[in-house]
Amino acid sequence: MIYDMVVIGAGPGGHAAALEAASLGASVAIVEKEAWGGTCVHWGCIPTKTLLACSGNVADIKKLKRMGISVGEPTVDLSAMKRHQHQMVRISELGVRKSLEDSGVRRIEGEGTLSSPGAVTVTHPDGDTMTITAQHTVIAWGSQPAALPFCGFSDRIISSREILSMETLPERLVIVGGGAIGVELATIAAELGSAVTIIELMDQLLPNEERDAAELLTGTLKKRGVEIYTSTSVESIEDKGDRVEVRGAKRDGSLIECAADYALICIGRKPVIRTVELEKLGIAYDRRGVLIDGHCMTNIGSVYAVGDVTGGVLLAHRAATQGRAVASHIFGNGSIPWCDDIIPAVVYTHPSLARVGLTEAQARTRGIRMEVIKGDYGGNIIARTEMMGKGFVKMIFHDDRLIGVTIVGEHAADLIASMSLAVANGMTKLQLQSWVIPHPTLSELLNSHIS
Ligand code: FAD
Repeated sequence: MIYDMVVIGAGPGGHAAALEAASLGASVAIVEKEAWGGTCVHWGCIPTKTLLACSGNVADIKKLKRMGISVGEPTVDLSAMKRHQHQMVRISELGVRKSLEDSGVRRIEGEGTLSSPGAVTVTHPDGDTMTITAQHTVIAWGSQPAALPFCGFSDRIISSREILSMETLPERLVIVGGGAIGVELATIAAELGSAVTIIELMDQLLPNEERDAAELLTGTLKKRGVEIYTSTSVESIEDKGDRVEVRGAKRDGSLIECAADYALICIGRKPVIRTVELEKLGIAYDRRGVLIDGHCMTNIGSVYAVGDVTGGVLLAHRAATQGRAVASHIFGNGSIPWCDDIIPAVVYTHPSLARVGLTEAQARTRGIRMEVIKGDYGGNIIARTEMMGKGFVKMIFHDDRLIGVTIVGEHAADLIASMSLAVANGMTKLQLQSWVIPHPTLSELLNSHIS
């Protein structure tokens, strides 16, 4: 049988491409070598969000006292939390498998190798092989953690995958890299009682985000006891068998040294590039990933690539949007677009930070004339009744149209969803002002300060 589409990799990108194609009537096969649902389900979004929910509740219980509710000092049963994490991963994986089966997509377990643009050779776990042929192929190989140039991973120099697979938490943890994954894992570890140090090369945590939002989060992390070094480059890490020793140099020339149980490397992720296959087929790529056009098509017309393997913003919803866009381009009317400019990015911390579109600094660098409007959580009654603490919404308008929003504060990750729609549609100040939002809600933050 010749399928309409074969997908290699069942993370959010491949999964979404397969489901959307099947819903449009295409015959689809999907090949997965390790874990249905990919990084997101097994070592990314789902396990982190489960642990973050647990650690956040520990912090919230302490807040309850100020509301007049006494529940005693919280204790942490990490093994119960890990059971919850494993269960959430299992449920999500089952959901991926079932949705594929229900849609009539053929699921094939094994490692897929592109042998020609329309043929994938699958090596099953037992060593048997088979070849799938299809009109269209979607590469969705995903990404993997980047290592420091001067030292690889080891038993104690680990990536997010290993720390999420551990059944205990280190007493002392050094995190190299203060990006979204680094600060998320720092939040979880610190809230659950680890002594955490973050070392970041740039002069602020979350270098791509608004400086004032990153500073607010930095302050919260410090209050939780996290030690933070910015403008500091890690020069060496030694795995001593029972601990790690980390040395770094600050930009002012001074040196830092710290010892910990583990060094967690969070300096970014790199696309999985299977160079032999790409070169054999003449598929163009560079170090950032497989090169694609606006329809996720590679330079070989019948071969597409989606998700982290294409570089850019490495997020699950971007991968899934690309997957759906590919299917709609090939089998539908192409009505599902994808565009990196309107992909919301969230830093999952307590509180969270979410952005869609441009930051003030990015707009300034591009020479865009802008109006910046900011509203504080302190001016919102629900933020006050629920004792949400500090936070703000910052909106950037150009010629009266919304081009960027950053929210830092509780529920920022949810609040940004409507702002995505507003930025994607270039809504005007007047349209946002005319938006009727129920009272009293946190959502009122999204237009109460616009004048
Ligand atoms: P992946 O999810 O990496 O899936 C690729 C799949 O392809 C894998 O299952 C792999 O086994 C399979 N594969 C590869 N090669 C082959 C082959 N030759 N044959 C068969 N199968 C193959 N994103 C968010 O949006 N929100 C979050 O909260 C979030 N949290 C994260 C937390 C952490 C700690 C990490 C590491 C990532 C997080 N991400 C988050 C990022 C998100 O996980 C990725 O962007 C997303 O998983 C990318 O999807 P993908 O389909 O491109 O690749």
